[in-house]
Amino acid sequence: MSPVSPKPRVVVVGGGAGGAELAAALGRRIGREAAEIILVDCAVSHLWKPRLHEVAAGLLASDEDALSYPALGHANHFRFHLGALTGLDPLARTISITGIQGSDGREIIGPRVIPYDTLILAIGSQVNDFGIEGVVDHCHVLDSGEQASVFQRQLLERAVQVADGPAREIRIGIVGAGATGVELAAELHHAVDALKRYGGLVGESRLAITLIDMSDRVLTNSDLNTSAFAERRLAQLGVDLRLNASVERVTAEAFVLKTGEEVPCDLKVWASGIIGRKVVEQLKGLQIGRGRRIVCDGFLHCVGLQDVYGLGDCAAVPDVKTDKLLPATAQVAHQQAAYLADVIVGSLHGRQPAPFKYRPMGSLISLGARSAAGEFPATKQGSVTMNGLLPKAFYVLLQFLHRAALVGCVHASALSCADALRKTTAPVVKLH
Ligand SMILES: Cc1cc2nc3c(=O)[nH]c(=O)nc-3n(C[C@H](O)[C@H](O)[C@H](O)COP(=O)(O)OP(=O)(O)OC[C@H]3O[C@@H](n4cnc5c(N)ncnc54)[C@H](O)[C@@H]3O)c2cc1C
Repeated sequence: MSPVSPKPRVVVVGGGAGGAELAAALGRRIGREAAEIILVDCAVSHLWKPRLHEVAAGLLASDEDALSYPALGHANHFRFHLGALTGLDPLARTISITGIQGSDGREIIGPRVIPYDTLILAIGSQVNDFGIEGVVDHCHVLDSGEQASVFQRQLLERAVQVADGPAREIRIGIVGAGATGVELAAELHHAVDALKRYGGLVGESRLAITLIDMSDRVLTNSDLNTSAFAERRLAQLGVDLRLNASVERVTAEAFVLKTGEEVPCDLKVWASGIIGRKVVEQLKGLQIGRGRRIVCDGFLHCVGLQDVYGLGDCAAVPDVKTDKLLPATAQVAHQQAAYLADVIVGSLHGRQPAPFKYRPMGSLISLGARSAAGEFPATKQGSVTMNGLLPKAFYVLLQFLHRAALVGCVHASALSCADALRKTTAPVVKLH
């Protein structure tokens, strides 16, 4: 029992794809009476990370899609604390978080210490620059809504320069032909086309995208059919695909490949792999594994600590069937959140949990306004692949299901209707 609360206190750190769903589920199930649920995040609102490429392309305004944590807490019976995790004291059962700065940069609340009875670490991951020279200084990454919005503003500025100035085209280089890189390349085409229709700016013909990856196909974690479909779609969109190509360094003007060749770009995006957040190295008692992920057992317990769990991208959790580490995806984070909600509610009734069992439900890659590629697990023949409008509809449904997990089906439907109505008057692409 926490030293300051008569009820058991469950603290979730990180309100992303997994943590926000967990805090909402716990709040609804036990937050009114049986337990005190607290969510901590370094941002004030939740934006679902799988939509960041849409924010970067200007097809989604981050402030329109974001859900405020205090409002989510009010609706789901949890309390929210704004601040970044800085420390963990497993003996005292407390975490430390940073203070809050006001609009003038002065601190309005100092650093705080929050006691817990059960702690869930769900702080996600960040893009891995692999220590390559120039990535930090010259590349955009898509780890947060702010970063995606900065890219979108620079894209717009470049479009204005090309439309009214001497520049001939917008040259965008993306490193990493995984889901993020492929989806971004496709959405950028859609966005730049819309810029011409709505803003009288440039059109697709003046957009040159180069997608670079060291492997021999795009979407290496997907089925061969899905990769082939995505490659055909990217070729139709005119994306210059540079496979089997490694970037040695990045300059202000270009990606420099290991062969010495330079790929000149006005805007550069690094979307090649992820790594755990640096703060985990200063959290006492945790075991940190490959890729800076927190080592957890099959029950999502952080190895070596009691009553501390890892969830989502930050946690290295073995698959009970294969013993391989589970992938860092929103789908895994979603299933782990549902599992931990059951475990924590069950523990109040003395129930012993079974290990977490991941059920892959397939994967979907958005390839522009009306197309997506999807793989769905089938009983015998491995996976079934599907391309075009139907997987696109499933893709949109996934976004709805995530919202529904946070605000309920009725409110999620209302938000979807509001989005649809907004689209009848607003341009499909952000012009400011
Ligand atoms: C562009 C893009 C597209 C993607 N598309 C897909 C897809 O189609 N399907 C799929 O399954 N996966 C996709 N992913 C991966 C997916 O987004 C992640 O696997 C998923 O978001 C992980 O969830 P999480 O809860 O572990 O972390 P996150 O969703 O990243 O949330 C982490 C939270 O922790 C907070 N935080 C970070 N550091 C601290 C700190 N020190 N203190 C307090 N709070 C902190 C952050 O603000 C954030 O709210 C995509 C990722 C990107 C970037």
